[in-house]
Amino acid sequence: MTPHSLKKLCKWFKENAAELPWRPADLDAPRDPYAVWISETMLQQTQVSTVKDYFIRWMGRFPNVETLAKADEAEVFKYWQGLGYYSRARNILKTAKIVCEENLQDPLRSASRMTLNENARVGCKMPETRKELEALPGIGAYTAGAILSLAYHKREAILDGNLVRIFSRLYELAFLPTDKVEKRRCPIKSGMTSNETGMTEKSSSEIYWGYAREVADSPKAYMHNEALMELGRTVCKTKSPLCETCPLHKECRAFLDGRTAEFPPTKKRTEKSWHGTVLVIESADEKILAVNGGQKFLDGQLALPHFESVRGATVGIPAQAEEYINADDVESVNDCGTFRHNITVHKIECNVLHMRLTTTANNAHLPKSKANSDKSAVFEWIEKAKAFETFANSFSLKALKKVF
Ligand code: SF4
Repeated sequence: MTPHSLKKLCKWFKENAAELPWRPADLDAPRDPYAVWISETMLQQTQVSTVKDYFIRWMGRFPNVETLAKADEAEVFKYWQGLGYYSRARNILKTAKIVCEENLQDPLRSASRMTLNENARVGCKMPETRKELEALPGIGAYTAGAILSLAYHKREAILDGNLVRIFSRLYELAFLPTDKVEKRRCPIKSGMTSNETGMTEKSSSEIYWGYAREVADSPKAYMHNEALMELGRTVCKTKSPLCETCPLHKECRAFLDGRTAEFPPTKKRTEKSWHGTVLVIESADEKILAVNGGQKFLDGQLALPHFESVRGATVGIPAQAEEYINADDVESVNDCGTFRHNITVHKIECNVLHMRLTTTANNAHLPKSKANSDKSAVFEWIEKAKAFETFANSFSLKALKKVF
């Protein structure tokens, strides 16, 4: 992009920037790197309108990295509940603990943790280099670039879905950065056409990052990056871009050629159907059996027991249920219907069985086989009265709602 078009972009951004909880009124002010990290992580795969409330609630409870580092995972999940992709929340907590060097005896302390600059860790400060940031759990090239440019005002590039869409249309790139094509011939500079000399060979990813770095090669990188994200979100939309109001339309090749609908190329998402059964096992003293880990979904967090099953086969106690409970302890089994749920690419349909036990939780015979076969599976009895507030995933909550 030319200096002139970047100037137009900044002018547009100053006039149109939305008010957001993580965006200060002064668009030139350096930001809190912690707030940038949290908001950008929440925004991955999630709409701005959804994230606003989550961000405000989160910052109210965990206003800085120190507070977050002292929290436990269950509480962090609660504040994340509804945003999905719980590995993001788990990584945020891991990173906070690493940045603050909490619990140095933690076995999770990894080699990457040791690469952090000693000075960067003093006072729980987020690191200031891409290498250090990308060594932290859950921080990839995009989030590192956002922290470095928006918070520290460094000349660092970012590349998210918004920028990919804009670059694809501006330069008519008929491929995505993730496309596995060996090397592509492309002009050395974005302003050159393919008829000019100066061709070079780059991978799909290198080409997109090249454009992103060009935009960020300026003391105003923070504004160029954020303005492009905002332009992608509000003007250069996936469907029906508002080109007439776009500050870049005079140089946008796809717009000038009337081909905006062709860029970027669509990537087919492979969906997987999964049918299963969820067990709501209730003891005689009103406790519900929960499992942490060792199951198909929701690894590493408290969830209701679940397993793959065939549609409609719910007469009596399914054989797989005996991985969780001894059939001799079961007093009754009720089929409470089905619910649908999506986790990443999985389109899930589950039926819910409510199993009442004759025994109290303490006296229930939990089969050892599941725990032995997978060390990460840990059983836990939780109070029925607190079940809705204990589970932090909508998968388990949807199943509970079918029963209670
Ligand atoms: S002119 Fe249209 S397609 Fe091109 S960058 Fe602007 S909004 Fe996107």
